[in-house]
Amino acid sequence: MSELFSIPDNWKRISNQVAESAIACGRDPDSVTIVAVSKMHPLDAVKVAWEAGAKVFGENYAQEFRDKIRDSEESNFSPEWHFIGALQSNKVKYIIPHAAMIHSCSSQSVAEEINRLSEKAGVRTDILIQVNTSGELSKSGIQPDEIQEYLERIVGLKSLHFRGLMTIPTATDDTKQLIKEFTLLRSIHELVKSNIPEPQDWNVLSMGMSDDFSIAIQEGATHVRIGTAIFGARSY
Ligand SMILES: *Cc1c(COP(=O)(O)O)cnc(C)c1O
Repeated sequence: MSELFSIPDNWKRISNQVAESAIACGRDPDSVTIVAVSKMHPLDAVKVAWEAGAKVFGENYAQEFRDKIRDSEESNFSPEWHFIGALQSNKVKYIIPHAAMIHSCSSQSVAEEINRLSEKAGVRTDILIQVNTSGELSKSGIQPDEIQEYLERIVGLKSLHFRGLMTIPTATDDTKQLIKEFTLLRSIHELVKSNIPEPQDWNVLSMGMSDDFSIAIQEGATHVRIGTAIFGARSY
């Protein structure tokens, strides 16, 4: 269960730590957005975090995303919602046009469906391409050596706004390994920049979670996705 009463303190602690991590490596604290990952936590928990200062929330499951947005609209409260979970094309309909950013685009059919539904809704959807930087076969995401080819296939989709890359690193406390994976994401981001159509807003690196966000910020993260450290353990 969410410990609602502990969320404001958690938020304050995490947002301070994020700011300190940015300052420690000479970055502007405002250059890092905290995506508060509220999956499996009730809307009440989201509201408490919002009142404490969180403005951007991340969800993993398409139907839960849809339901939370419907409920939040009914209660007149409208944070910025990002979709960060594995996505199948038949579920894209639940999240367009409400997803301000989709972090987890990693197949051609999903990219095409996001494009089709965005066009129909008259919006352009910010997307990140999820990259498998860990080399673990069980992880989703495009392989680093296939990013260029993937981009070539989807870059003409006009209702997608290509913003950058996302990765889920290996679950490890081996700092060297994490740095290796975050650095890889940043270098791919630089490498493919010239493939992105003008006008370019290719400036997002979504990497870093509860246990590794300081390292991610040091390596250039613009978005850190933090769940447990804000909302407590998830009950599943
Ligand atoms: C759940 C999740 C997070 C948050 O993880 P925590 O360890 O709870 O901070 C971040 N990113 C993705 C893609 C997730 O699915």
